Amino acid sequence: MEQMALHVLAILNQPSADAPPHTPGAAPFAFADAAEPHLSVMDLGVTRGDGIFESISVGHGHAQALEHHLRRFASSAAKLDLPAPDLDAWREAILAAIVELEPGAESWVKTVLTRGVEGDGRPTGWVYAAHTSDFSQARTTGVRVVTLDRGYRHDVEQTSPWLLAGAKTLSYAVNRSVLREAHRRDADDVIFVSSDGFVLEGPTSSVVFRRGDRLLTPGTGLGILDGTTQANVFRYAESLGFTTGFELVTPDQLRSADAAWLVSSVRLAAPVRALDGAPFPVDAALTAGINEYLLALTD
Ligand code: PLP
Repeated sequence: MEQMALHVLAILNQPSADAPPHTPGAAPFAFADAAEPHLSVMDLGVTRGDGIFESISVGHGHAQALEHHLRRFASSAAKLDLPAPDLDAWREAILAAIVELEPGAESWVKTVLTRGVEGDGRPTGWVYAAHTSDFSQARTTGVRVVTLDRGYRHDVEQTSPWLLAGAKTLSYAVNRSVLREAHRRDADDVIFVSSDGFVLEGPTSSVVFRRGDRLLTPGTGLGILDGTTQANVFRYAESLGFTTGFELVTPDQLRSADAAWLVSSVRLAAPVRALDGAPFPVDAALTAGINEYLLALTD
């Protein structure tokens, strides 16, 4: 590529070492014009939402929590019985796409792996990089959140692994639908609650809350994503002297927290400023500290 680009697409030739390449002997990935169509209308990622993805923050040219994202990508693939992604090829494509992108303070990279065209046996994979939208308002003013029933028990991952709870699949129509429901309720975002009454995660974020000098999140194995941002927020909080940990809470228990955030790659930490229509306390100083820390991460 000769010119720095506003968005970059790299298509993997062999997304998984366990499946045949698209072009034998070709380089691990090739850049392509992101504005042009490339996907088959028969790709199972499109026709069935059968695939996985990751969204990775890029701050000042550095992919953040890259190894954690790659581990989660591989773990999602295993949950869907997809051929294991060749993480070296994906890492190389991600880093190369970032280099091609016109420098900007904040960008993001999306990796997508689908089962490919039905019967073909070759998964489809690509890396897309672009600049980030302006999330400054969500990061400072915060978000109004409603709790919505997800319809699964908090132990769904153990009882019914075929439901793929805890995998980052391409089937995000529900994650978008709940945002429309939030808007109908005059809110901006959602916290999912299990059918047996426990706080889980947002549709695109992890939930973190503060009680005094403890920073908490609901935990692992609850059919929710192992959040890369939550892990970094805990690292930052520990450096300030907070203790961090897991706590399974009901929405009523969450309401008595000193502060809460929806945290995710790209948008970073958005303080909850209203919960189910009632004002919620915002810890502006800690929020600013968390976002500064996340923006400055170099790995
Ligand atoms: N939970 C869900 C359902 C998500 O979609 C996301 C991110 O998109 C997260 C949690 C937060 O994960 P991360 O902090 O790794 O971006």
